[in-house]
Amino acid sequence: NAKSCGSNAYRFYAEAQTRAADERLAMEVALRRALDHDEFVLYYQPQVDARDGSLIGVEALVRWRSSQRGLVSPSRFIPLAEESGFIVALGDWVLRDACAQARAWLDEGVPLTRLAVNLSARQFRQPDLVERIRAMLDGNGLRPTLLELEITESVLMDVAGAMEKLGQLASIGVRIAIDDFGTGYSSFAYLKSIPFDVIKIDKSFVGDIGRDQASSRIVATIIQLGHGLDREVVAEGVETAEQRDFLLAAGCSSCQGYLFSPPFPARELDAWLRGEPY
Ligand code: C2E
Ligand code: MG
Ligand code: MG
Ligand code: MG
Repeated sequence: NAKSCGSNAYRFYAEAQTRAADERLAMEVALRRALDHDEFVLYYQPQVDARDGSLIGVEALVRWRSSQRGLVSPSRFIPLAEESGFIVALGDWVLRDACAQARAWLDEGVPLTRLAVNLSARQFRQPDLVERIRAMLDGNGLRPTLLELEITESVLMDVAGAMEKLGQLASIGVRIAIDDFGTGYSSFAYLKSIPFDVIKIDKSFVGDIGRDQASSRIVATIIQLGHGLDREVVAEGVETAEQRDFLLAAGCSSCQGYLFSPPFPARELDAWLRGEPY
């Protein structure tokens, strides 16, 4: 009857919930172990000037090289890491590892002028974030302007005191990029009032260039908006020559995407710079 049916459905639902909770817990434990066992690795994706293909900078993108799960993409663990708070420890590792790598590249003579690192909301909320970053830069002898922190619109909207934090970061000379631009709670009010250097057009819009007129127009409009505010505009997810040509015609030459290169381990930058296939 309906009643037992209902309670059965409830039982299955409850069991599924318990299972999901167990899996999450197991994943959280596995992530913490992974950090202790040095299983995270940074890949780097070049940002290029699409006019001549020259290097503008690199974005650090974390991966989990798990003995059991293989190479795990961040979309599979960053959300959980954010919820559980583990992102603060992981993000700290990312910043330290990326800064050390930048130092190594500069010592090797790589003409690196930008190191972009993604920052989560939780990390952004750390009271001592600015001091930590300053210490990492100093410790590696890096100019603050080398470092570009990528934050999403939601971070800006969510965080009380975001303005103050951004102001402090700007005052030490670190650059700020708004990542995945156009997908969050876009508000012109904050664009006017916050210090930032770069708008990164979300790859969902870039991917639809030439396929969908509305997306193409949105891309062109974001470029005008960014340049109108005297900011740099970077297009992410550039995969085709057609997209690149559209972006160039629309005035955006800073590009990142598979057309130029996928993210790769640090040691491959040299070969990429020399234009060797890898
Ligand atoms: P994101 O910061 O917007 O990074 C861009 C994503 O697009 C990367 O995915 C990159 O591999 C991918 N991508 C690059 N070129 C193309 C392309 O031409 N086409 C397509 N379809 N995709 C392209 P990835 O590496 O899987 O990272 C996913 C997201 O995970 C990142 O998005 C970022 O939000 C987050 N993430 C990655 N590393 C970190 C980190 O160290 N800290 C934090 N907080 N988040 C991170
Ligand atoms: Mg990926
Ligand atoms: Mg990013
Ligand atoms: Mg993005």
